[in-house]
Amino acid sequence: MIPITSFAGKSVAVFGLGGSGIVTAQALVAGGAKVVAWDDNAESVAKAAAAGIPTGDLRQQDFAGFSALVLSPGVPLTHPVPHWTVDLAKATGIEIIGDIELFCRERRATAPGAPFIAITGTNGKSTTTALIAHLFRTAGWDVQLGGNIGTAILSLEPPATDRIHIVECSSFQIDLAPTIDPTVGVLLNLTEDHLDRHDTMERYAAIKARLVRGADTAVIGIDDEWCATIASDLDAIGKPVERLSVRRPVATGFYADRGRIFEADDAVVRQVADLAGIGSLRGAHNAQNAAAAIATARVIGLSETVIVAGLKSFPGLAHRMEEVARIGKVLFVNDSKATNADAAEKALSSFDRIYWIAGGKPKTGGITSLAPYFPRIVKAYLIGAAAEEFAATLAGKVDTVMAGTMDAAVAAAARDAAADGAAEPVVLLSPACASYDQYRNFEIRGDHFRGLVQALAGAHSVAEVK
Ligand code: ADP
Repeated sequence: MIPITSFAGKSVAVFGLGGSGIVTAQALVAGGAKVVAWDDNAESVAKAAAAGIPTGDLRQQDFAGFSALVLSPGVPLTHPVPHWTVDLAKATGIEIIGDIELFCRERRATAPGAPFIAITGTNGKSTTTALIAHLFRTAGWDVQLGGNIGTAILSLEPPATDRIHIVECSSFQIDLAPTIDPTVGVLLNLTEDHLDRHDTMERYAAIKARLVRGADTAVIGIDDEWCATIASDLDAIGKPVERLSVRRPVATGFYADRGRIFEADDAVVRQVADLAGIGSLRGAHNAQNAAAAIATARVIGLSETVIVAGLKSFPGLAHRMEEVARIGKVLFVNDSKATNADAAEKALSSFDRIYWIAGGKPKTGGITSLAPYFPRIVKAYLIGAAAEEFAATLAGKVDTVMAGTMDAAVAAAARDAAADGAAEPVVLLSPACASYDQYRNFEIRGDHFRGLVQALAGAHSVAEVK
């Protein structure tokens, strides 16, 4: 844990007692703050109290006595309406911050030279964060990986010059981190998302921009207009910027061309990596993630040999084009994280002969936008509530099977793909739907798929031995 000393002897209100909220309250207490913690959910309050955290109904407190309100990122700061604690804090003028801000203050006070990488963007955050962490681990560094990717930042080891913090940041977390100042700030891309919480794209982009504006060096994907503008704005204030593109060569920075990553320095161009054959980094979107990781590693000073070795051994993240098994020549890929058509497009564009398992709780627009990829789909196996709608979209273009359940879909797709004469048929779960009609979340859906495939693989190897 990282004890937070910046509020030693002061009173702090903590609201939101999920996993990261509890750790935040404990870190403040450990650093000597007088904490009053609360949540709208009585169970969460009871859990915090059981963990030894001082709790109290913040409605009954005089906010003028607090130095800060520390919020969990899930609690609305501005939209759709500010949470009641935010109104109380604003009325007395105390600051409203989150755990990443607390980390940044502690780092500045105790180990300002400690390397700290912060990663954000609309898509690819977790993959890029995990990949950067993997590169530094390959190089033998003491890596502290956390933030939005799952481990609360304050539960990590404290910052130190011989260890690196690699932290995924959501827009909500950045919104609560007014002085975020990473050694390298990575902004991958910006597309419309979370506008229910940020109101306008301008506001969403301004929040994301803060992470790179505060960085010593900014690494920015410039393939969308929002990020390209942010990069130019940083040039104008003299901030070092490493530009990334997977669409076109850049004069200075890193770009990808058919899976190869080049570094350009004033038109002197060198290939630094080739992603061909790296299953965990297939597709243009992963080339963007890899380019960001390479640029970051180079800024900190990792050698090219280590970077190339790290890319090759990157295991990838579960549920994101995860190679689950190969049975005979059939590859099975779990892309359960693809909960909308945009995400499924990434997987469909990465393979050529696809036995596609899709469906679930449908999203507006369905799969009509995926029509350019239909020629790659040999057969579609439809499950869940979206099956009828998807079948109508695919009618006359792709053979479909109304599988209904994952069990039936995997069995039928595996059988059909095994009978395919092509070099590498792929059974791909990339549902283009939320999972909630049949599963609690996309992880459980992906785990179910993986389990079924592994059972098939087991049966297959037994058959081979016989
Ligand atoms: P995040 O943490 O931002 O949600 P992930 O790394 O978990 O991102 O990837 C989630 C999904 O987003 C992937 O399965 C893929 O479909 C898509 N994706 C990943 N990286 C990118 C990228 N750089 N650009 C666009 N889409 C991406």
